[in-house]
Amino acid sequence: MDGTYDILIIGGGPAGLSAAVAARGRGRSCLVISNPREDNPLSKAPLVDNYLGLPGLTGAEMMETFHSHARQMGAHFRSGRVLSAMDMGTSFFLTIGEEVAEGRKIILAPGIQRGVKYPGEEALLGRGVSYCASCDGMLYRQKEVIVVGRAKDAPHEANFLHGIGCKVSYVSPGKPEALMAEIPWIKAGNLRVLGQDRVTGLLADGRELPCQGLFILRDTIAPNDLFPGLALEEGHIQVNRRMETNLAGVYAAGDCTGKPLQISKAVGEGLIAGQSAAEALEAEDKERK
Ligand SMILES: Cc1cc2nc3c(=O)[nH]c(=O)nc-3n(C[C@H](O)[C@H](O)[C@H](O)COP(=O)(O)OP(=O)(O)OC[C@H]3O[C@@H](n4cnc5c(N)ncnc54)[C@H](O)[C@@H]3O)c2cc1C
Repeated sequence: MDGTYDILIIGGGPAGLSAAVAARGRGRSCLVISNPREDNPLSKAPLVDNYLGLPGLTGAEMMETFHSHARQMGAHFRSGRVLSAMDMGTSFFLTIGEEVAEGRKIILAPGIQRGVKYPGEEALLGRGVSYCASCDGMLYRQKEVIVVGRAKDAPHEANFLHGIGCKVSYVSPGKPEALMAEIPWIKAGNLRVLGQDRVTGLLADGRELPCQGLFILRDTIAPNDLFPGLALEEGHIQVNRRMETNLAGVYAAGDCTGKPLQISKAVGEGLIAGQSAAEALEAEDKERK
């Protein structure tokens, strides 16, 4: 489907898929955007024995069951990482790699963020630190940039930056596959972002590497980096019983809202988020008539 979806769902785990089934059950179009299914944490569970009615499945089998249900209900899917979000008032735009999707409501179901930010990263986000090569790469043509590779597709993003004329170096603990030979690889794991008002470099295992742009590419992006102003509580997204966040039109479900980090809770919250978003759309549509 081209054009505007009723609901965009970020995350294709149990919460996001349950939200998709609920949204489709109310006749709403929805697009689930997520990293590849085989990379979902549940796909790695050897055995799930505590999900009602479906004991004894592997995590991968359970994910296939959930996914196929959402697909049969008519949910649409896009594989990729949501890199940025924009609230345009009546709809939202999400950037997925080099593509964009538009939707009237957002459901956040990205699971929990693993790994902590590097010292200096938070303070210099938007001032040299970027999470999106295709969004910000053009700003750094002919300039020194460093790609911190923590995502599978990070070497491709580094190649893209090289291709548009950035002077790229690549920093990661392990040797990256698919990195162009022209891009120097620096093996390092202990990192600190340098700079006062803007990024001036990266301290990598004690070695100072000067740069003007720093692309930190992980598999996931913290929801409050995607949606500045999103209220958190003890590191989790704050929601009410309708799974509404503090931002109008933005709902959240699953591990991202806090404990217990369990499939049943994610599925239940996904259902509520999907229904709440659909109800809000029904009310808006009625008002327009
Ligand atoms: C090894 C293991 C075993 C487990 N066993 C059990 C068990 O037996 N029983 C049980 O109840 N629970 C179990 N769990 C916990 C269960 O997997 C989680 O509670 C559940 O998967 C949470 O669902 P979710 O949809 O909230 O998030 P997730 O399943 O984490 O799904 C979120 C998805 O969104 C993707 N994503 C995040 N950010 C972005 C972005 N910016 N763009 C695109 N995609 C993004 C993530 O990569 C991920 O694929 C287990 C977990 C693990 C790791």
